[in-house]
Amino acid sequence: MNIPFIPSIPVKIFLMNQEKKRILTGDRPTGPLHIGHYVGSLQNRVKLQDEYETYILLADVQALTDNFERPEILRANMREVVLDYLAVGLDPQKCAFVVQSLVPEIAELTVYYLNLVTLVRLQRNPTVKTEIAQKFGGEVPAGFVCYPVSQAADITAFNAHLVPVGDDQDPMIEQTREIVARFNRLYGETLVVPDKLHSPVARLPGTDGGAKMGKSLDNAIYLRDDEATVNKKVMAMFTDPNRLRGIEPGNVEGNPVFVYHDAFNPDRERVAEMKEMYRQGGVGPDGKKPLLGDVQVKRELAAALNAFLEPIRTRREELARDESFVRDVLRAGTARGRERARQTMDAVRTAMKIDYFG
Ligand code: ATP
Ligand code: MG
Repeated sequence: MNIPFIPSIPVKIFLMNQEKKRILTGDRPTGPLHIGHYVGSLQNRVKLQDEYETYILLADVQALTDNFERPEILRANMREVVLDYLAVGLDPQKCAFVVQSLVPEIAELTVYYLNLVTLVRLQRNPTVKTEIAQKFGGEVPAGFVCYPVSQAADITAFNAHLVPVGDDQDPMIEQTREIVARFNRLYGETLVVPDKLHSPVARLPGTDGGAKMGKSLDNAIYLRDDEATVNKKVMAMFTDPNRLRGIEPGNVEGNPVFVYHDAFNPDRERVAEMKEMYRQGGVGPDGKKPLLGDVQVKRELAAALNAFLEPIRTRREELARDESFVRDVLRAGTARGRERARQTMDAVRTAMKIDYFG
């Protein structure tokens, strides 16, 4: 398969970096990225992009496993996700942004790996189980149940050492490590056993109080949301469900509004003070109004989030003006990714003794 590309960034730069360890991570182009992505994974990617040879996968094949009836979603969101990457500071000179469906080696590896897992093992995956309950009735496509195998192929196609992800991905990394161990045992040491990397906020809850903010769950604050949208979403957020009136003592632990304060409000002292007041409950100095009501906590959260998002929005708007830039970055990144995947594929074929013609 020949994929035409115009590399604006030479492949050579990447191949020179071979002594560096590699990162593989990615996102499904099912929507623009949200603040959960930022704290869960993007932040670590930005931090490590100098130290590691970084590949970031736009996982459109995986996204199809639950969106095969509406593939237009992928086309619409590919550009949005890349704009988010660039806006938070991922540098296309340092990271290759790779379109998954344009690296057929990943599909090839998936087929080989499918022999190394059992159906029972796949059905035990807790994240997949939760997603099946959220997305499907009884009729689950085989492709969806098997996506962790495809994810093992994503990681190993780049022979990655490190995978910065949220903790919903733990079962996928575990599955990958098992497949790699099995492969290496059967065919000889070929693939790197990857490690995951979590940030301190490994799973940001949704604005609806659900355990995870997700693009497909309608509970997200997006990096591209404007100020008014952020204000509106924050004001509608769930807090402590048991606190019916502002004067009652409230729960801070697991309360999404405070989880977000912890993640995004740089004024630690004020956050600590608010937590104390919220826990305490009661009335304020006027003897009537709550000492600290939900509305005040939310107002301060919206301000903190808007301050955090403002530079990201500005940069995003600037980048969005150039129609061809994102496309060029994707083409060049995909070419670099494919080159690396080809190298892995050669090693895999040799190990499996299916390199018939040398
Ligand atoms: P979808 O609902 O389509 O599955 P998503 O919001 O779960 O979208 P993904 O593209 O599946 O996003 O995930 C990309 C990366 O972001 C993964 O590493 C995942 O662990 C991380 N991530 C996603 N949501 C969160 C979250 N709420 N908190 C922390 N990390 C997250
Ligand atoms: Mg997801």
